[in-house]
Amino acid sequence: TISMLALDENGNLSGACTTSGAAWKLHGRVGDSPIIGAGLFLDNEVGAAAATGLGEAVIRTAGSAMVVEQMRMGKSPEEACKIIVERIFEKHKNHKDMEYLQVGFIAVNKNGEYGGYSLRSGFNYAVCDAEKGNRMEDASFKM
Ligand code: ASP
Repeated sequence: TISMLALDENGNLSGACTTSGAAWKLHGRVGDSPIIGAGLFLDNEVGAAAATGLGEAVIRTAGSAMVVEQMRMGKSPEEACKIIVERIFEKHKNHKDMEYLQVGFIAVNKNGEYGGYSLRSGFNYAVCDAEKGNRMEDASFKM
């Protein structure tokens, strides 16, 4: 999945999301990426979030919408992502394919604070702003 979240100079948020879907997917499978609220969500009053990883798990939790709700309740973007990754982990921890489960989120709020969190290592995301330019951030599991 490739997701982009942007906050412009007027404080307006936008987002986009695209994916090739899951490997070996069933014909006709719809993942989380084209579902607003699952793979991508934003509320211009609060913030924006996007997901990568096992789409079925993200859909079940309305993942990106829930990350935005956590930010609405005052959580930082990274905390918000972590809470929803942990929620997904709790729901799936006894699943037979748990060892293959990867899910991660990125988020940005109205103040331009951003963060990400993923269940497993190997999830990096790029950030660009006027202050510091381009850079990579590691959103891997930090517990
Ligand atoms: N989220 C995508 C899907 O389940 C997979 C991905 O992260 O590339 O369709």
